[in-house]
Amino acid sequence: MFTYLSERTARPATGINTSYWGNSVWPIKYDNLEEDLSVDIVVIGGGIAGSTIAYCLAQEGKKVALVDSGYIGNGETGRSMAHLIVTPDDSYSRLERTYGKGYARLTADSHMAAIDFIERVTRKETIECDFERLNGYLFLQADHQPAILKRELYAALNAGLEVKEMNTMPGIKQSEEYCLMFANQAQMHPLKYLKGLCEAIQSNGGRIFTETPVDEIVPGGLVTNFGLRIHAERIVIATNSPANNKYMRHLKQLSYRTYIIGAKVKKDSLPRALWWDTGNHHVRLLKYDREFDLLLCGGEDYSGRINENISISEEQRYQSLENWMRERFNAEDVIYKWRRCLSKPLDRFAYIHNNAEVDDHVYIVPGDPGNGLTHSTIAGIIVADLLS
Ligand SMILES: Cc1cc2nc3c(=O)[nH]c(=O)nc-3n(C[C@H](O)[C@H](O)[C@H](O)COP(=O)(O)OP(=O)(O)OC[C@H]3O[C@@H](n4cnc5c(N)ncnc54)[C@H](O)[C@@H]3O)c2cc1C
Repeated sequence: MFTYLSERTARPATGINTSYWGNSVWPIKYDNLEEDLSVDIVVIGGGIAGSTIAYCLAQEGKKVALVDSGYIGNGETGRSMAHLIVTPDDSYSRLERTYGKGYARLTADSHMAAIDFIERVTRKETIECDFERLNGYLFLQADHQPAILKRELYAALNAGLEVKEMNTMPGIKQSEEYCLMFANQAQMHPLKYLKGLCEAIQSNGGRIFTETPVDEIVPGGLVTNFGLRIHAERIVIATNSPANNKYMRHLKQLSYRTYIIGAKVKKDSLPRALWWDTGNHHVRLLKYDREFDLLLCGGEDYSGRINENISISEEQRYQSLENWMRERFNAEDVIYKWRRCLSKPLDRFAYIHNNAEVDDHVYIVPGDPGNGLTHSTIAGIIVADLLS
């Protein structure tokens, strides 16, 4: 029986690459695969993409199995900030410029639909994952020009979003800062959400196997590292970085590393909100214990490209992030630090389709960086539709 660690027994993990999420719940473990199996569809990867896809397919009455090499949510999902926001890393103004207003609007509608989907599922399945609707504030990176925010405002309005200009920003020290307020954004505890999805998959007849690494995709199914087979008509590879297609996809993605710190702040001293800047910083709050909330702050993205300084140490990157946070928020001790690599699709959209370069029966969902949780949720809806 799965139980959550209480907030009080969660151990702080300063200096260790453990996320708050992973530290605040028990690992989401299921049985290992111990014999060959036949299903309609097998989904590889128990992050938010794979779990959502398996959830949607199980709802449709498909015979589905979900397998993960580790535990559920152990990958990127369990290390994210779990901001559920509609603004892509690359901004609506850039999307509009590159792809036109229609695509920018489709992007906004899709991410809004994904947040609505998560909210609906948490209600339907009574998943207690601290899902919360709140306003999000986009402000300028220190060296960016205000014109960037103006352009973003018009593009976001064109995309149909509920956004407005503000001359004050709640929570931040320099409260007179000009910013854009996006209504109806959200946040959650990603691992509690995945646990709820998994329970619903099982109650709809789906099978889940953890510590079951997939070694090979073969005609009509897959083979695990232990030589067992899952026979399936369709295979969905939701391993984030596609485990099957080693070159074609990876050449279309830029990998980089990003960092998160978690600092204690006096309980209720900051408003419930999300904050992010026109650079790569993201900030959110969560309830920690009776005395403190936890302020999570992410950024210091680093891709090792030629023009980047590769001699900066990890500790220096965490320190820069902490300095950035302290300039803007009143925070106490930093008690969490973690980092993780991400892959950014070069065309700025997650690829969600069958993997025609390899096999029409295989579907891949490589995810997306800043909005990966909503992109993966969109993947769940689309792939389940394609396979129905
Ligand atoms: C630091 C950080 C902050 C982020 N913040 C946000 C945010 O605030 N909002 C947002 O929307 N997105 C955010 N993202 C992005 C988001 O977390 C990811 O895009 C999303 O979680 C990807 O989900 P996924 O299911 O594709 O991948 P993952 O969660 O990585 O899941 C893939 C799974 O596949 C399994 N797997 C891999 N290989 C095999 C194999 N051979 N056999 C079996 N299983 C295998 C892994 O064990 C893993 O569990 C953030 C990412 C990072 C790193």
